[in-house]
Amino acid sequence: DDSFDEECDYLFKAVLIGDSAVGKSNLLSRFSRDEFRLDSKPTIGVEFAYRNVKVGDKLIKAQIWDTAGQERFRAITSSYYRGALGAMLVYDLTRRATFDNLKKWLEELRHFGDSDMVIVLVGNKSDLVHKREVSEEDGRNLAENENIFFIETSALENFNVEEAFLHMISQIHKITS
Ligand code: GDP
Ligand code: MG
Repeated sequence: DDSFDEECDYLFKAVLIGDSAVGKSNLLSRFSRDEFRLDSKPTIGVEFAYRNVKVGDKLIKAQIWDTAGQERFRAITSSYYRGALGAMLVYDLTRRATFDNLKKWLEELRHFGDSDMVIVLVGNKSDLVHKREVSEEDGRNLAENENIFFIETSALENFNVEEAFLHMISQIHKITS
């Protein structure tokens, strides 16, 4: 990764969480490499990806951690969250259960995460309009109640992916600077 060589002002760690197969790995590959895989297998091996982002006159290296499939067994440990300043909490808007499980993910975040962690709620797969099981309003309401940012995305169509990550990164920058 040649971005390692660039001079950065800050290094931020952020984590991806949410149920299995909601699109976490594809959101990250879209953001870090502009890649998408229709047949994507559970993440194996890759632990995190980097992308450098300019915020104002600062160059920020965002280190974004992806689960290696542990979410299937609800076996994400505290070390995954350690030092994370941001979390992207993802559900699949075509599967209601992944939205209903957000409560558990938020509990886990509050338990393991930093109290001032920036949390972004992401409803992914907005391209699957006819399969939608969670309205945009449901997502927005939950986010309002939890006082977190909300956005719908499509990793497949590359819709709002950049916006979701950049919001999280610029919020982290705001809080830490
Ligand atoms: P993860 O388990 O949360 O990391 O989910 P993956 O990124 O592995 O994606 C699970 C499945 O959903 C794969 O078949 C992806 O191709 C598909 N997928 C991910 N994002 C989208 C999206 O935005 N739209 C559609 N239609 N499929 C997606
Ligand atoms: Mg994955």
